[in-house]
Amino acid sequence: MKQFLTANGLKRRVLIVDDELINRELLGAMLSQTFEIDFAADGEEAMAALMQPEAAYSLILLDLMMPKLDGFEVIRRCQADESLRRVPIIVMTSEKSAEVRSIRMGAADFITKPYDMPEVILARCERIIELSEDKSIIRSTERDKVSGLYTRGYFFAYIRRMLPLPTPMDALVLNIDRFHMINELFGREEGDRVLSCFGALIRELLTRIRGIACRSESDTFFLFCERQEDYEEAVALMQQKLAEQARSRSLRLRAGIYACENLSDDPELWFSRAKTVCDRIRGQYGALTARYNSELYERTMLHERLIGDVNDAIRNGDFVVYFQPKYRIQGDRPVLASAEALIRWIHPELGFISPGEFIPLFENNGLIRQVDHYVWQKAAEQIRRWRDTYGLSIPVSVNVSRVDIMDPELENKLCAIRDECALSPSDLLLEITESAYSDSADRLISVINSLRDKGFRIEMDDFGSGYSSLNMLTEIPIDVLKLDMQFIRRMLLDEKSLMLVKLVMDIAGFLKVPVVAEGVEEEAQLTALREMGCDIVQGYYFSPPLPAERFGELIEKECQRRAENHDHH
Ligand code: C2E
Ligand code: MG
Ligand code: MG
Repeated sequence: MKQFLTANGLKRRVLIVDDELINRELLGAMLSQTFEIDFAADGEEAMAALMQPEAAYSLILLDLMMPKLDGFEVIRRCQADESLRRVPIIVMTSEKSAEVRSIRMGAADFITKPYDMPEVILARCERIIELSEDKSIIRSTERDKVSGLYTRGYFFAYIRRMLPLPTPMDALVLNIDRFHMINELFGREEGDRVLSCFGALIRELLTRIRGIACRSESDTFFLFCERQEDYEEAVALMQQKLAEQARSRSLRLRAGIYACENLSDDPELWFSRAKTVCDRIRGQYGALTARYNSELYERTMLHERLIGDVNDAIRNGDFVVYFQPKYRIQGDRPVLASAEALIRWIHPELGFISPGEFIPLFENNGLIRQVDHYVWQKAAEQIRRWRDTYGLSIPVSVNVSRVDIMDPELENKLCAIRDECALSPSDLLLEITESAYSDSADRLISVINSLRDKGFRIEMDDFGSGYSSLNMLTEIPIDVLKLDMQFIRRMLLDEKSLMLVKLVMDIAGFLKVPVVAEGVEEEAQLTALREMGCDIVQGYYFSPPLPAERFGELIEKECQRRAENHDHH
């Protein structure tokens, strides 16, 4: 018997959709020698089978009259789907009018009931499959003019024809670092020349490694090849040769690699994963190649999702401001002094997300400005509410990101918020991280000076964590020093950290500013800090950050104590 197999010597898969068991059995018997057969008893089952990620059917044999979802609707849905559109459909019917209608809708051919001789039906199926496979290749122009490699369309059509994969394959995305700079510095012609050289180098590589390649867009190239142990050397060699031929000697390449594990997964997906990895190593010095791993991928996906969700979160109130108390510890009992506002994200689907996860992310893309503005506003409203309820002003510090420092509207925004809630200058403190100083010292100095002129008090956050600490203190007038948590953590474990804490206390004493120690978790730390003359302590020892209502209870308690003290005197 004649074999009808894929290029890899495998049987193609065919889906037979008919609500009558006898028809399914008849067709199955005719075709099962030649094809892998799956069955569906109605349109819904057919769609479910087609939507499976590992489906990869070569042909659908479709009855038109079926319960639930009829054949016409199946054709319509397949036509509407980017990847199902290329699977040819042969309809099976006994009505002439239905034949015409289904062909118009996009069916490739028809078989009339009752069924013809098995050989005729088989030959018809084979011919339709061949036609559609040729068409999908022919449909795309083959070569990219600039690089001489395949075009993206042809490349993917080719890969789809190879499925399922005969041997383990890798998907590589190759990119020229900062290619647009070459265009800008040397002109488009030079840019095209570099792309053409790169194309030639990839073709040269493909004489040693079995695979195919295309230019996907501008300076991004896809390579689909038999799995290699390592690509670092190959990419380094291409980079060296390319730099020799280009006018930019410092030209750099990078490659993201995805191992195509699941035999019939979607090729587009392989390359989008490889691209994610490739984007990740952009601008990084060190390795030229990086492999996809699911952890890295998931984090990137999560981050993209979070970025997309920020506006909704602000609108729906998913960002919640918590307040962590700070206590004055030098008296005979700790006294509630103030609070730090700390953001929490209660995501409707992902649940609680730590600011450690999303703050650095939003600092990278500027979204932090919106988020911080929201937090400042909420904190200011809360200060106002507490004052109205308890008759007591609790100063609250808000975090001001290094990115906010660059915002020309920063001062106006903060003043507007303070005025709207009718707060006094001492109510709202600003925590600025020490490391903002190393970003842009001059800018930071002038911003802080002008904020202080407007009456804001500045708390230097994470003091001691950067390299700039001492130098900065001579240049920037600050109101509170907030010691970096790492010192407190190590203070009782090693002598050096303890010495540093003492030193900071001395400096603060000299500058006449109070010191806040944050991250205090144990009694022993508290005692040591009190002995050293530390004024204010924040940390789990007293309380974690609390929702506003819970913090309200602390204020209430504080009011009662003050009232009692008052009675004693
Ligand atoms: P940070 O400003 O240094 O805030 C102190 C962090 O230490 C908070 O973490 C707080 O919950 C945590 N903490 C307090 N006491 C203890 C303790 O005793 N032990 C331990 N292990 N941790 C303690 P959180 O809330 O996760 O915030 C992390 C960082 O995220 C903050 O560090 C701040 O840099 C940033 N952040 C938080 N909210 C905002 C915000 O609204 N705007 C900006 N720009 N940054 C924020
Ligand atoms: Mg802080
Ligand atoms: Mg801090």
